[in-house]
Amino acid sequence: MNTKTIKIDRNNFNIEDLKEAAMTLKNGGLVAFPTETVYGLGADGLNPQASEKIYAAKGRPSDNPLIIHIADINALDVLTKNPSKKGIQLAKKFWPGPLTLIFDKSEIVPYSTTGGLETIAIRMPNHPIAYELIKMSGVYVAAPSANTSGRPSPTKAEHVMDDLDGKIDYIIDGGKVDIGLESTIVDVTDDIPTILRPGYITRSMIEDVIGPVNVDQALLSKSYNPNIVAKAPGMKYKHYAPKGELIIFEGEMDRVIGKINEITKQKISEGLKVGIIATDETIGAYKEGDIKIIGTRKDEDTIARGLFEILRDFDNDGVDYIFTESFGDNKLGQAIMNRLLKAAGYRVVKVL
Ligand code: AMP
Ligand code: MG
Repeated sequence: MNTKTIKIDRNNFNIEDLKEAAMTLKNGGLVAFPTETVYGLGADGLNPQASEKIYAAKGRPSDNPLIIHIADINALDVLTKNPSKKGIQLAKKFWPGPLTLIFDKSEIVPYSTTGGLETIAIRMPNHPIAYELIKMSGVYVAAPSANTSGRPSPTKAEHVMDDLDGKIDYIIDGGKVDIGLESTIVDVTDDIPTILRPGYITRSMIEDVIGPVNVDQALLSKSYNPNIVAKAPGMKYKHYAPKGELIIFEGEMDRVIGKINEITKQKISEGLKVGIIATDETIGAYKEGDIKIIGTRKDEDTIARGLFEILRDFDNDGVDYIFTESFGDNKLGQAIMNRLLKAAGYRVVKVL
């Protein structure tokens, strides 16, 4: 298949520029497009043949459900059954934005989109290209991240091309995304909602609107526990994995840096290639290896934006190991550490 790519300036485009992509969606094709979180791979979510193409292109397991993207909150009337009051309150407060809500699904939503579940995940993205594209297509757009299943999520159109060129109809290149981590997912089907995936919208932002919420057990443990099954089916899969072996070093910063320098020296002497994830604050302290800056500790947003890209860059460099410092657990830090731990397969070295 020939994949068509068009470049669109998110701040200055004609709606007409999106027409061909919108028609592709309407006619059952696959279109990758930018959102504020990561790039999404869209298809008509009510057309089983179309959503099955998403699974094929990504190599995604068929029990891993898709998020439906909408441009109008009234879509809830069509896609859900008895949406909870708390769910609607959250939608009104945070949509459009990086929050996905799980509701009971209506009859018309096919099981091929929900991975066989009776529930449906819905989000209204806050990105001008995503918004106009969904509106113009006239369909409810099922869209997981536009990467090969298991690889780091795409934060630039180049990442989508690396994974899906030749496998999908269309890519809209709208430049780099804003946030760089996938949406927060909250299950609002119970009286007390549960956070299934941490993201830019934090627990305290949610609790400010609807009161106490639970956090899925699987998110709380820092090590992999086979006895705790994640409630978002997708969270159980190996995720975001770079090709090199990623290891997180935790502890007092000076000691962490000392340990990373020591192990890097040893691996290089064995003839191996080592990548190091550093921050603006620590870059000067590393001695050797392929050292890259992820962002600044003064602004967690920069770390979130840089995470998936740096993992892909190390893949391109062909490193055998990637050593990284760890990040705080507050606010966005929780989402950053969630992705980093999964990418590392929970390999953490505690430096004493
Ligand atoms: P992605 O779009 O690639 O970020 O993946 C979508 C995420 O949403 C996966 O982790 C899914 O398991 C989760 N998800 C989608 N639908 C549901 C649902 N009905 N219930 C729970 N989790 C869901
Ligand atoms: Mg994904």
